[in-house]
Amino acid sequence: MNISIIGTGYVGLVTGACFAELGNKVHCVDNDKAKINALKKGSIPIYEPGLEELVDKNIKRRRLSFTSSISNGIEKSVVIFIAVGTPSRENGEADLGGIENVARSIAMNMKEYKLIVEKSTVPVETGLWVQRTIQANIKRKIRFDVASNPEFLREGSAISDFMHPDRIVIGVESTKARDILLDLYRPLNASIVVTGIKSAELIKHASNSFLATKISFINAVSQVCERTGADVVKVAEGMGLDKRIGGQFLNAGVGYGGSCFPKDVDAFITISDKLGYNFELLKSVKRINEQQKKFMVKKIKEALWILKNKTIGILGLSFKPNTDDMRCAPSLDIIKELQAEEAKIKAYDPFATKKASLYLTNVQFTNDAYSLARGCDCLVVITEWDEFKELDFLRIKKLLKRPLIIDGRNIYDPNKLKKLGFEYISVGRP
Ligand code: NAD
Repeated sequence: MNISIIGTGYVGLVTGACFAELGNKVHCVDNDKAKINALKKGSIPIYEPGLEELVDKNIKRRRLSFTSSISNGIEKSVVIFIAVGTPSRENGEADLGGIENVARSIAMNMKEYKLIVEKSTVPVETGLWVQRTIQANIKRKIRFDVASNPEFLREGSAISDFMHPDRIVIGVESTKARDILLDLYRPLNASIVVTGIKSAELIKHASNSFLATKISFINAVSQVCERTGADVVKVAEGMGLDKRIGGQFLNAGVGYGGSCFPKDVDAFITISDKLGYNFELLKSVKRINEQQKKFMVKKIKEALWILKNKTIGILGLSFKPNTDDMRCAPSLDIIKELQAEEAKIKAYDPFATKKASLYLTNVQFTNDAYSLARGCDCLVVITEWDEFKELDFLRIKKLLKRPLIIDGRNIYDPNKLKKLGFEYISVGRP
């Protein structure tokens, strides 16, 4: 099939490369000319395991191409995925300006039937607006369908998530649209939920909000654990083995972040408000998440007392391991609060330093965990990269000014670190 994907970011590029790998001819479109030029030269703008090889392979097979001309992209394909960003506006609602823009361009460049698919995460009823926008801007009487096909891939394992999804959701209002999308996804041999557009849009917001709820729930439980001497890791293990609950997303820590959960929770709250429903549960989920980041700073202050001129070493900056994505990373809020107390910040992240430097000032970035530890008053684990689990702690101890580790992700064994002579503080564990 000939497919165009408008928006070549984390989702658009992975989706494009994977559809190409499945044998389709994919045209990736982006209005960021520098990004498209870089991609044409084989330079991948994001860190995602396996992506560079996949892109390279499919460019060589002439199944994947890049253009900054939306009209070119639209002309070549029957199926057009919209994968542009839908960031939060100041009031929490999703900014759908990019979606409207693309819908208008599609309408103005359409010469024959097109299936326009929302891949971006959007509030319920966006499909209706896409339909109206195309209708209002179309030049001639041409048939088209709008569909919703939300994306569930996770950064860090995006290719495998795309190729082996738990489910694919297809929201359609016509058999033609349904058949095209079923054909496109057939090679994946996955469970497919076919539903209406509004339900498909809601599945995405409800899923992300539910996962965020699990995280805030276990973070709230960790607060009770801290006050009683119970161990949240054991509590989560005991809960998670119940199949009705499941063990994933039950790790207490510094709170969720990233480009999806915070904005999707916000957008779900605001669209619900707009529709006349006060989603109090989600408002609490958001509040607990904010508190959890502040709680981390409080722990650091309680351990170090005065932060002015103390040097704090931050292990991990990206919002989660295996990605360089810094959007809404908890590290940003935590570092800024520590800087407000005039602490000196050193930081190390295996892949996110370059992107982090766009968000942070006055941070001394290092090339590994050992140069990070040198001269620090404490180390704070913010992102649970695998390499942090295997550190040479005796070497780290010699390098630190004070052998203090504050572990915001509970990645270390408290007994082991205490035996090695560290003061060790974690989340919700005695
Ligand atoms: P991104 O910011 O990485 O990429 C968006 C791309 O769209 C950018 O390259 C931007 O230049 C381009 N763009 C914006 N307006 C455009 C326009 N008018 N014409 C052409 N290109 C345009 O965003 P992302 O992380 O890929 O997310 C895209 C959507 O997918 C969002 O709605 C997001 O919520 C959703 N999503 C993201 C993830 C994830 O893990 N990142 C997972 C599932 C769903």
